[in-house]
Amino acid sequence: MAMSEWEWAPGTSQEHVDRITRFHMDSLAVPVEQRIRPSDPGRHDFPIGLDENGRKFPVPPTWADRVLGCVLAGAVGDALGASIEFLPIDMIRRQHGEQGVTGFGPAGPDGTITDDTQMTLFTLEGLIRAHVRDRISNAGDPVPVVQHAYQRWLHTQGFDWSQAGGPFAEGRAQPDGWLMTERGLFARRAPGNTCVTALRVFAAGNPAGSMANPVNDSKGCGGVMRAAPVALWSTDAEVVFALGAATAALTHGHPSGYLSAASLAYLVHGLLTGTSLPDCIAALTPVLTRWQGHEEQLARLTTAVRLADEGLVSGERLADELGGGWVGEEALAIAVYAMLVTDSLPEALRISVNHSGDSDSTGSVCGNLAGARYGVAAIPADWLEQLELRPTITSLTRDALAEFGPTPPVDDAWLQRYPGW
Ligand SMILES: [Mg+2]
Repeated sequence: MAMSEWEWAPGTSQEHVDRITRFHMDSLAVPVEQRIRPSDPGRHDFPIGLDENGRKFPVPPTWADRVLGCVLAGAVGDALGASIEFLPIDMIRRQHGEQGVTGFGPAGPDGTITDDTQMTLFTLEGLIRAHVRDRISNAGDPVPVVQHAYQRWLHTQGFDWSQAGGPFAEGRAQPDGWLMTERGLFARRAPGNTCVTALRVFAAGNPAGSMANPVNDSKGCGGVMRAAPVALWSTDAEVVFALGAATAALTHGHPSGYLSAASLAYLVHGLLTGTSLPDCIAALTPVLTRWQGHEEQLARLTTAVRLADEGLVSGERLADELGGGWVGEEALAIAVYAMLVTDSLPEALRISVNHSGDSDSTGSVCGNLAGARYGVAAIPADWLEQLELRPTITSLTRDALAEFGPTPPVDDAWLQRYPGW
């Protein structure tokens, strides 16, 4: 069924859908062959095209390349940092040399992802399902649908669905949807205690965490590390910011826990449209400032920008100025610093993981930003080859491109794959 024949349910904003459709059609306009040229190892990581005179020129990635890059590079960054998450910088140097971890290999990380990537995938899946619901029945608040997705993640962490699903498990022995059939997700990878506890509290029958009714006072980085996919939800960057905050507040009640997530979603949203990171940060500042409790995040971001002006600093200095990334505002600041001080995706990821702190989360957040800026072609092929669950991550992201693209599927198989509730 073509989209024009689709009957929009009452309550669905046709105007909203039209805007998203136009936006995505524009960004998908660059021919595929121009998007798969090898990267120029020089000044930038954009694929190289040829003009009519045979001259090379950099082809900025399309929206689709950037979305794929955002999710995949986030997973790569997570995996690069995973084995050094709890190591101080001098120990990292002793084990991996002066440069620290520079890739996957027998002596270093092997491509295994952690809870950061798992939860990012469930954010993305939840948003796809919320969007399916909005198209076929009634537009509504996407936050409960994302909560439902996080309860499914909790189930993958070893809790029976009857204990993990809360209200969503009523009358259902098992959770539904395609992502739950990917058995590789059923693995515990040092899941954040804050997330697990908050989701269990909800499953036990308590109200959902929100900014108005904080579930705790945590500002751990478990909110920001999973927030990047929220950028896809709307063409309106402020809607994205607010949804980033609300979905993080399901598990993190301190403003720095959810405003870091909102800020990341906002920055990714800007990068996906081709805006430079400094311009994205400039646009974010007045938005962030309007929210209560923004001071810590704003201060860390400001420090990250100032530090990047100085250039590359030691891992020790990074920790002194920006912290270890265990909390939301620090994780975002370290990722932003790593982006601003480099001009390629691999370099940004190396800077983002080699410090004394939460290396997998800072790598994950930096990867989200770097992938959105440079596109999927900028990720070294051997890194992608070794990335755990790459087929699952790629399939889910391609499904998101379809769902948020100009002609989202409407067949029964799609509705089984992404039940809209
Ligand atoms: Mg982790």
